[in-house]
Amino acid sequence: MPTDRVAQSIGAGRRRYRPKLFLPFTPNGAETERRAIEVKDALGLCPEEAIDPFQVLPLIPARLLGLQETAGLLPPEVRRALFQTGGGEWSAVGWGRSPATDEELISLNPRHHEHRQRASLMEEVVHILLDHPKVTIRLGEGGTLTVRSFDQAIEDEAFSVGAACIVPYPALFNAVHRAGDSAARIAARHSVSKEYVEYRIKRSGLTGVYYKRQRGK
Ligand SMILES: [Zn+2]
Repeated sequence: MPTDRVAQSIGAGRRRYRPKLFLPFTPNGAETERRAIEVKDALGLCPEEAIDPFQVLPLIPARLLGLQETAGLLPPEVRRALFQTGGGEWSAVGWGRSPATDEELISLNPRHHEHRQRASLMEEVVHILLDHPKVTIRLGEGGTLTVRSFDQAIEDEAFSVGAACIVPYPALFNAVHRAGDSAARIAARHSVSKEYVEYRIKRSGLTGVYYKRQRGK
């Protein structure tokens, strides 16, 4: 019995007209794209639409939690570790759903560049919508905290599906193949890093096409 919101929305969407999808040629690339399209479907967005994770938060609903707002919600040692002494080691934390407002609460590392924050936030949105498993950890003084357990396969799915949400395949294919755009140029268009676009090119099976077009300029 599927319980995640994506599975529910697939059932609900079955009656709707579905256009033929433009997918990567590689099986893994196509699978990632399909998952990204499911995420967009759950948010009520079209298959080819590019997601700005900051913009879609109210649709989830989710909200960013900054240092000021974590006062009273998180133990002081956790706040210190994340926002002060913790430095650059973490990217994003999904705190789970607020019982008061029903919003998913997410914190982003304020020290990271906006490009990295965008990728990290998108990854958290994918974790939430694909209902990836969470664990509860114990803190000092009897407190508990529910966080996502670390599983490399799940992290890889969240990151790659997230990248496919921010840089959808049809736009990437047109930029790489038709326009012959550089990764830097594509990155600027989507407000992400050049490395993120290079990763996306690789994971959608466009590396060969990309270098051929770049050499031919
Ligand atoms: Zn993650």
